[in-house]
Amino acid sequence: MSVTVATLGFPRIGPRRELKTELEQHWAGRSDAASLLAVAARLRAGNWAWQRDRGADVIPSNDFSLYDHVLDTSVMVGAIPPVYGWTGGPVDSATYFAMARGTQGEAACAHGHAAHAAGGVPAAEMTKWFDTNYHYLVPEFSADQVFRLSSTKPVDEYNEARAQGIETRPVLLGPVSYLLLGKARGGDFDPLTLLPRLLPVYVAVLRALADAGAGWVQIDEPCLVLDLNDAARAAYAQAYAQLHAALDGTRLMLTTYFGDLGDNLATALALPVDGLHIDLVRAPGQLQPVLDGARPDLVLSLGVIDGRNVWRADLHAILARIAPAVRSGRTLQLAPSCSLLHSPLDLDRETALDEDVRSWLAFAVQKIGELAILARALNTGVESVRGELDAAAAAVASRRTSPRINSPAVQARVAGGSGQEGRPTPFPARQAAQRAMLDLPPFPTTTIGSFPQTPEVRQARAAQARGALADDAYEAFLKEEIAAAVRWQEEVGLDVLVHGEFERNDMVQYFGEHLSGFVFTRHGWVQSYGSRCVRPPIIYGDVARPEPMTVGWWEYAQSLTARPMKGMLTGPVTILNWSFVRDDQPRETTCRQIAYAIRDEVVDLERAGAAIIQIDEAALREGLPLRRRDWQAYLDWAVACFRIASSGVADVTQIHTHMCYSEFNDIIAAIAAMDADVISIETARSKMELLDAFVGHRYPAEIGPGVYDIHSPREPSVDEMVALLKAAARRLDARQIWVNPDCGLKTRKWPEVWPAIASMVAAARAMRAG
Ligand code: GLN
Ligand code: ZN
Repeated sequence: MSVTVATLGFPRIGPRRELKTELEQHWAGRSDAASLLAVAARLRAGNWAWQRDRGADVIPSNDFSLYDHVLDTSVMVGAIPPVYGWTGGPVDSATYFAMARGTQGEAACAHGHAAHAAGGVPAAEMTKWFDTNYHYLVPEFSADQVFRLSSTKPVDEYNEARAQGIETRPVLLGPVSYLLLGKARGGDFDPLTLLPRLLPVYVAVLRALADAGAGWVQIDEPCLVLDLNDAARAAYAQAYAQLHAALDGTRLMLTTYFGDLGDNLATALALPVDGLHIDLVRAPGQLQPVLDGARPDLVLSLGVIDGRNVWRADLHAILARIAPAVRSGRTLQLAPSCSLLHSPLDLDRETALDEDVRSWLAFAVQKIGELAILARALNTGVESVRGELDAAAAAVASRRTSPRINSPAVQARVAGGSGQEGRPTPFPARQAAQRAMLDLPPFPTTTIGSFPQTPEVRQARAAQARGALADDAYEAFLKEEIAAAVRWQEEVGLDVLVHGEFERNDMVQYFGEHLSGFVFTRHGWVQSYGSRCVRPPIIYGDVARPEPMTVGWWEYAQSLTARPMKGMLTGPVTILNWSFVRDDQPRETTCRQIAYAIRDEVVDLERAGAAIIQIDEAALREGLPLRRRDWQAYLDWAVACFRIASSGVADVTQIHTHMCYSEFNDIIAAIAAMDADVISIETARSKMELLDAFVGHRYPAEIGPGVYDIHSPREPSVDEMVALLKAAARRLDARQIWVNPDCGLKTRKWPEVWPAIASMVAAARAMRAG
């Protein structure tokens, strides 16, 4: 039996982000549903042809989505919350997009909080898909939830591919993961209790696919790599026993990815399925236990090519790693570790990329080619692909030894670190010194850093990038923006000012462009949610900071005012978590390198005169590993990196940090260990409940809980903000409290920001007056 190549899912957005463009046209009312569906069909056809041509034998269908595959699953099973007014029958596109985005324009912010605009319906909640930067729409169930088959999408797309001569393996999100990813409305029951009601819908879908001719169905159960309780494990056994009993003929490839089956291995291996996919990139060690424990007739799909990163693979190493599986005589498929959704599409389009770096990379299309080479090596002998294997080996060797990657100075600096970096003086003494120096009023006011990125700001940046605006004209433009922002901040009465971040396209990209060891693609977009795509930087080499990145802007801004101007930086952990990271050294090592680069910037800002420096760690919590047992190790090095970045300054220099909406309770010890002098967090929408994590001895330093929910276009009143500050003052010592909005002012318009911040300052003054 020969080894075949399988893919589990493919990027949906298209080589030129056609899906994004078309969705935005559709939402703006400039293109109708038929046009949208036609674009989607063309993208699917292209994706299928691409996969076939590059050598995939097993090609997925129903992996495409107009917005999100979890939302598609909710639609498929008819789990549409009542607020959307759906009364049965097929779910129309208006209802679909209402769930995705709400019905009042921009309905969800980057953090997944739906905006509850007056009169409209809110979008469903959005959250991160495991530890990727893809976001899914959280299914919401009621205790009396009824499920019914409400979509023909899986069958339609299977038939569509077939009509093009491509036999596919349809993909479904498995019933147990689907329920585990959802939430109970009201929170008063366990969604898993709905399993018996859900399964008949899955049976119906699987039967329909079998009737259409599908021999195999891929059923994704990524929750099998999470910490599960006994009830969840039992649900797996129950679900698959029931599906097995109801199916005749259709075979299931159960896929797991993003980690190790670990303590769920026995559960997974006992399921009556026909195939099992395991992630051997994240968890290479699970191959042997799976080989030892799996039924002899279980088809194994080996996820050997990294679906979540951009590096060309070491094909020889993979062949060696899977040799035991080959020797076992089992039926094998070779696959990416997970869906290629998380990988950029096609490296061939990156014609402007540095040649060396390009030779080290593989995007989705190239990854399928790598799998095809591996399969040929196994099926027709390594000699038949000697040239390809040697080329891959040469690329790996060139990357390993390249002076472009290796900076002895950077490596020595990281190696020379004590691992105990931190500020020498404890917080209370620093606080006293800073108070004497800064002389701020109680309830000092500030903002989180960015101000509106107006169309003019974006246009100027784009013009400068294409050479249509000279560098000095661009600089003069930005200085005017900064000057106007400083004037307004003084007038409105803010105590600690910011320059506004007008020069930054993005809080990570800006720094990546100024650090060595980073490259940027032109077209390396990856879906973040719906039509939103990100183009993460690629960290390919040792990271250093050749010269100051922000000092000039800060100096200019500070020169305009006598009030303290905050230096504004992105922290090392956030830069790491929002980039493609090199795979030839531990993430921790790369993070330490970034930390030293940021430290240099912090020291230079202080030397230039900055009394307050903010180091944002928006994505610190996002980096938490999927399994609890791995949390502490991550938090230890993440905190160490923040301390490296922030501890090069004198006691009087005040270090701020910032974190976006998070569950803070279970990481509060780590946040305290970061030892910042002030932290701002987003809390406005949580009514200060998120602040509870910081109460008492758990957090000694100063805190700015967001009082203005900038994710909503609604203008907050003074009273509302006073009420929030009073709620904060009930939990904290008044002298601990700063007054600031939530983050993301760059996404609002100036006419919204002006009155809201004026009200915020008024609220702070009311608090001072007592
Ligand atoms: N300083 C950044 C800003 O204000 C922080 C962004 C963020 O927290 N995501 O935009
Ligand atoms: Zn934030």
